[in-house]
Amino acid sequence: MFSYRHAFHAGNHADVLKHTVLIATLDHLLEKEAALTVVDTHAGAGLYRLDGDYAGTSGEAAEGVLRLLADKKAPASPAPAAKSATKKVAPEAEAPLADAIARYLSVIHDFNPKGGARIYPGSPFIVQHLLRDHDKLKLFELHPTDARTLDANIAQLEAGRQIAVLREDGFGSATKFLPPPSRRALVLMDPSYEIKSDYGRVLDFAAEALKRFATGTYAIWYPIIPRPEAHDLPRRLKTLATKAGKPWLHATLTVKSSKLTTTPTGETQRPGLPASGMFLINPPYTLKPLLAAALPQLAERLAQDRHATFSLDSGG
Ligand code: SAM
Repeated sequence: MFSYRHAFHAGNHADVLKHTVLIATLDHLLEKEAALTVVDTHAGAGLYRLDGDYAGTSGEAAEGVLRLLADKKAPASPAPAAKSATKKVAPEAEAPLADAIARYLSVIHDFNPKGGARIYPGSPFIVQHLLRDHDKLKLFELHPTDARTLDANIAQLEAGRQIAVLREDGFGSATKFLPPPSRRALVLMDPSYEIKSDYGRVLDFAAEALKRFATGTYAIWYPIIPRPEAHDLPRRLKTLATKAGKPWLHATLTVKSSKLTTTPTGETQRPGLPASGMFLINPPYTLKPLLAAALPQLAERLAQDRHATFSLDSGG
């Protein structure tokens, strides 16, 4: 059941989108003094080596965070012409780096003070890095190896009772922390979608969580792949938020076409993950303008072909 290992994907374009949104959201939530609880329902191993075996084999970070870091030094290349795009990717060569991207890269830099991104922080470490002493972090991870690694990585922080690592089903039991005593929480749902039922479980979880704690901020990552469940998820989340009378925000980033390609030897090749989205319920009001500036630059700088594009939508 658990073949997914995030170490192969750490720092890829999906992580760039997810972690840029996560940091921008947290920055806003942490402006208020009252304690914040962050619940990470699918935590992963917490910390990754981009020069290690896993990430080295997949090379996905090279097309993600490492590309952004390299681009920061050089002027951005002219944007690819996006065709049937929700938004065309406009040339951004002259534009300074958008605030949300600069902030994301500054957090990556905090883990790599000598430069580069040899160490890539997953969501647990990004969150812990930003939290204050009186905030709390609840981490759920089911994969036996990743849960052990997460435990060991978190133990090194000596954060005591601030962080709880639970080797439990995030979908099944994370709602027990809602609402937290301070009634301020961010819930990140970042499943691997290895099994089709993950899509439905995300919806069920979000519905149950909203019932328990209607004012929490919920951030859901999902892959944009040719699969009906993936296609329907943002639409169903929109319906859920709208029926609950809650504001929502939906951001997507596409880096390449989702079409199958054929190699010169006639083999059919899958494109790998071409795009992903972040759906937020009760997003901070500051997020949309930050993403409006960041997404065109991400689409331009992480483009792998002329189909690179982005979308940003909100309601409620
Ligand atoms: N959120 C992490 C980050 O941003 O660095 C990455 C998480 S990864 C995409 C998804 C993780 O969820 C995997 O490590 C997988 O083992 C774990 N997982 C899968 N099903 C789970 C479940 N039902 N409960 C908790 N963890 C689960």
